[in-house]
Amino acid sequence: KGKRAFIAGVADDNGYGWAIAKALAAAGAEILVGTWVPALNIFESSLRRGKFDISRILPDGSMMEITKVYPLDAVFDNPDDVPEDIKTNKRYAGSSKWTVQEVAESVKEDFGSIDILVHSLANGPEVTKPLLETSRNGYLAAISASSYSYVSLLKHFLPILNPGGSSISLTYIASERIIPGYGGGMSSAKAALESDTRVLAFEAGRKRKIRVNTISAGPLRSRAAKAIGFIDMMIDYSSANAPLQKEVLAEEVGYTAAFLASPLASAITGTVLYVDNGLNAMGVGV
Ligand code: NAD
Repeated sequence: KGKRAFIAGVADDNGYGWAIAKALAAAGAEILVGTWVPALNIFESSLRRGKFDISRILPDGSMMEITKVYPLDAVFDNPDDVPEDIKTNKRYAGSSKWTVQEVAESVKEDFGSIDILVHSLANGPEVTKPLLETSRNGYLAAISASSYSYVSLLKHFLPILNPGGSSISLTYIASERIIPGYGGGMSSAKAALESDTRVLAFEAGRKRKIRVNTISAGPLRSRAAKAIGFIDMMIDYSSANAPLQKEVLAEEVGYTAAFLASPLASAITGTVLYVDNGLNAMGVGV
């Protein structure tokens, strides 16, 4: 039978989440996505108006279908967590049931279960500030949106993840090597995400035979990456210095996610898998 995937963090056709959705759809999976509430309207209307039709085309010529788009804000676990100013915010008041727990409940109601959970989201309000200039609130916000959001998603989806299923997140080498410019506690958040990948692999593996891995991806000109402000430099640096002197394509990360979600990867869990043209293996740039 076909597998069903829930991909959190798709709001346009430029990021890793979209490419992962396409690779999973090409492999026969049914696609559900979770879209950040403030980005929901533009994403849904663009989808409806055909703005993504060209990038929806799969290798066999058919078009990726997204069965359902769920509004999601992964920094809130349940309605009790939501502060008044967000509740009454125009962009949020137009949608409902977008906390992590409610989204998992809605997916359960709509479809019963899933096989693949993908976390392709991150946010650090002070990402452009060096760590020494990052506020406590900024640091905690980065960890909340980029690391705990994954713990929460997996926790709430675990009961509806079919045994043998696979969970994947996206990380970045700034967790373990110095990448000036990736600030605001985002490097810390990715370090937490990678450590949590190991602990969650143990807990979800023992509890429900679920595999948990993270892909350490090379630089991509996504919306989120453009907001950091140094993405072109990182792409040039990688092309100049990596063993493979080419840009990392979003598809290449998509294919890796499809592999990790497949039975071909049935003994792989708790790993950080680099999809970065080998840049992580270099000691100096040459
Ligand atoms: P992207 O902009 O396509 O994806 C980030 C998504 O996160 C957006 O859709 C945004 O709406 C969503 N989001 C932000 N806060 C949210 C919240 N509170 N709740 C729900 N959704 C929220 O950019 P991307 O670069 O493809 O990012 C996807 C993942 O890949 C991230 O984890 C990112 O850190 C990681 N990554 C990116 C790069 C890169 O160079 N682009 C490199 C390595 C890892």
